[in-house]
Amino acid sequence: MGTKIIPYNNGEILEWRWWSDNKLISFQLFASCFLIDGLLVDANAPGSELDLRKWVKNIGGKNHINSCFLTHFHEDHAGGAPILKEDFDIPIYATPLTIPHLKNGYKYRFYRKIYWGRSGQKPVDVEPVKGPIITKSGKYSFELFPMPGHSPDLTALIDKKNQIAFVGDAIMYKYGYTFGGSSPDLYEDISQIYKSQKSLYKITEGMDNLQIFVAHVGMINRNFVAEKMKEIEDLHAKAHKIQKELIDSGYKNQNKIVKKIVKRIWRKGELFQFKILSMGEISRANLVATLLKWSLDT
Ligand SMILES: [Zn+2]
Repeated sequence: MGTKIIPYNNGEILEWRWWSDNKLISFQLFASCFLIDGLLVDANAPGSELDLRKWVKNIGGKNHINSCFLTHFHEDHAGGAPILKEDFDIPIYATPLTIPHLKNGYKYRFYRKIYWGRSGQKPVDVEPVKGPIITKSGKYSFELFPMPGHSPDLTALIDKKNQIAFVGDAIMYKYGYTFGGSSPDLYEDISQIYKSQKSLYKITEGMDNLQIFVAHVGMINRNFVAEKMKEIEDLHAKAHKIQKELIDSGYKNQNKIVKKIVKRIWRKGELFQFKILSMGEISRANLVATLLKWSLDT
C-alpha cells in the first residue's frame, strides 16, 4: 500500500491518495479523496481503510473532518465511508441517486479486488442532500452539479465564488477505454460524459482561475476539460467514419466492425491484459461501442 498527501492553496485543500501494492498490478492506479474546510469529498477505496483511519485520526485543528460527500457510488470513492461513519461518527452525504447502491453494499470482480481491496463495498447509511453544501467555517458553499456518464449518479461540487470544483470521475486523464460490456454495475456512456463536460465548461465560463479536482488525476483547469472534449469529439468522428467505410466495403457483423475500428484507431489494438483480467468490463471495444451508439447528429 502507498499513501501520499498533496496540499493545494497553501494546504487549504488536501488530496489524500492511496494505492494498492498488489503484485498482480502491472498498471498502477491511485484513488483520491479531497479535504477542504472539514468537508471530505469522497472516501477512497475499501482497501484503504487502515490507512484512512490513521490519517483521519491524526488530522485535527482546522482540518478536522466534520462531513463527507460522495460524488458517486463506486467502491474507490465510497469504500472508506463505513469506517468514517462507524469509527468517527462523520455523517456521509450523497444525492438520492447514489444512496440505493450503498444501502446493502455490493461485491465486485477479482481485478477490482486487486486494485481496491478484497472486502467489497460494505453497506453504509448515507443521508440525502439536495441543496448546497456549506463547509464548517462557512467559507465555501458548494452547489451540486450533476455530471452523469461515468456513472448515472455522478454529482460534482462547485463553488463559483471561490472557483473550486470537485468532479470525481467525470473527467479522465485519457479516453482509451471505458467500462461496459459484461459489467452489471459499471457502464460508461460516452455521449453523456461529453455532454456533462460541456455543461461544466459552459457554466464555468469566465472563471479563469477555476481549480478542478479530479480523482485519479489531481488538479486540472478549464483548458484540460476543453482538451478532453476535443479528444472525445475526435474519437467519435473517427469511429463513425471507419464504421461507414467498413459497411460500404461489405462488413455486416457489428462485433467484427467494432474489432476492426479498435485496430484502426489504436495501433496496438485491444488492451488484452486489461480486457481479460476484467472479463470485458474494461476495454477499447466498450469505448467504440458507446461511441457508435451516439449518433453523429446529436
Ligand atoms: Zn468511478
